[in-house]
Amino acid sequence: MSGGRIPGSASGDAEAVPARAKSGSRRHRADLLDVAVVGGGMVGAAAALALARAGFATALLEAREPAPWRADAEPDLRVVALAPSSAALLDGFGTWDTIRSARVSAYRHMHVWDAESGAALDFDAADSGRDTLGWIVENRLVQQVLWQALEPAGVRRLCPATVASFDVHEDHVQLQLADGTGLAARLLVAADGAGSPLRSLAGIGTRGRDYAQRAVVAHVATEREHASTAWQRFLPGGPIALLPLGDGRSSIVWSLPEADAQRVLALDDEAFRDAVGVASDFRLGRITATTLRAAFPLKLQLAASYQAERFVLLGDAAHSVHPLAGQGVNLGLRDVAELRDTLVAARDDGRDFCAPHVLRRYARRRRSANALDALSFDAMARAFAWQAPPLVALRGFGVRALDRIGPLKRALSGHAAGQSAPNP
Ligand SMILES: Cc1cc2nc3c(=O)[nH]c(=O)nc-3n(C[C@H](O)[C@H](O)[C@H](O)COP(=O)(O)OP(=O)(O)OC[C@H]3O[C@@H](n4cnc5c(N)ncnc54)[C@H](O)[C@@H]3O)c2cc1C
Repeated sequence: MSGGRIPGSASGDAEAVPARAKSGSRRHRADLLDVAVVGGGMVGAAAALALARAGFATALLEAREPAPWRADAEPDLRVVALAPSSAALLDGFGTWDTIRSARVSAYRHMHVWDAESGAALDFDAADSGRDTLGWIVENRLVQQVLWQALEPAGVRRLCPATVASFDVHEDHVQLQLADGTGLAARLLVAADGAGSPLRSLAGIGTRGRDYAQRAVVAHVATEREHASTAWQRFLPGGPIALLPLGDGRSSIVWSLPEADAQRVLALDDEAFRDAVGVASDFRLGRITATTLRAAFPLKLQLAASYQAERFVLLGDAAHSVHPLAGQGVNLGLRDVAELRDTLVAARDDGRDFCAPHVLRRYARRRRSANALDALSFDAMARAFAWQAPPLVALRGFGVRALDRIGPLKRALSGHAAGQSAPNP
């Protein structure tokens, strides 16, 4: 038996069953879930839905009630660029049409340019035979639509619920919740975000680096139309992206060294609009209005392993990456597809879906794919920070060359779209 414990965590819980005395023995099957997913963000909610729809008895535990999304409210400041692979996964649950008809914005072009060398790179959906490169979607909307689909799919929802500790037994994992109740499942799936308490409980370490940057986000109105284009300008301190919103505004994600981020957050609205205009080289003209701002610390963090006995990690709990490529949640949703496919294949072959070699298969595939992507984004962040003139010239040469090599550009665009990802 192995496991871990968080001292003094607290929460309530609506539906959990009373905790049982721990033992090394087998559980009665009636109250044994197949899977307990901890963390109901976009990735955890998608995992619970995917696994329930594949026939696994699933529960989702989330510490905080998600903030509601409303059509008549100001769009959530947190938006993501969803890749076609993510939309296809959500479509498989019948949730994409609901999200799409609520409030999303398709982007068909991407223009990336280097402030120092002036070199630019353009992507166009049509070059790869697609209608769109992706969609800008509010996090809160995705989470809400997924949550609404949980109960109809048979997912047992526990919220607010916090896992205080868990113990691994011969044929199940026993979770102790902070309110004193318990829950048993054959497999524990941790999707509890970058700070993942469950990852720590499982004794899994991480490696990576702190970018010492914050991403400042806001929605801005601009003098010129965004033209369904995701714009991103690389500055020595970090990139600024202007992502097209459905109402004609753009959502900015501006990565800045810590001290600069603090300075930008403290500016009054007029000075902030001017600063965003300068940083984006007035590509969309002057910034004419802005919402409130928020900021998020940035780090590269990769879990040393995605798996332990009867335990897997996915989403930001397994990997957090720089937002410059807009891929964080897309990687997490690819974890979901891979985990579902791996577990289903084992079960349908009459094998134990929690057997170590099954979980290792999931872990091996996603860990190497995510590490490759995370390190490429990190290499981009490093290369765009170069300021020595010969290195700037080299970078400019590289960007221009990439822009001219059609097959390479299409391969990059296909990879970002998730064409080589697991089946949606
Ligand atoms: C500025 C910025 C821009 C980004 N842009 C993009 C983009 O364009 N495209 C993209 O793909 N990605 C983007 N990302 C990344 C993306 O936002 C994340 O990858 C994604 O939100 C992670 O989702 P998750 O469900 O794994 O984790 P989270 O959203 O962190 O969810 C974890 C959940 O677990 C819950 N939880 C934590 N601990 C416990 C516990 N002990 N018990 C129960 N529940 C618990 C939390 O309450 C939370 O709801 C961006 C990130 C940032 C910061």
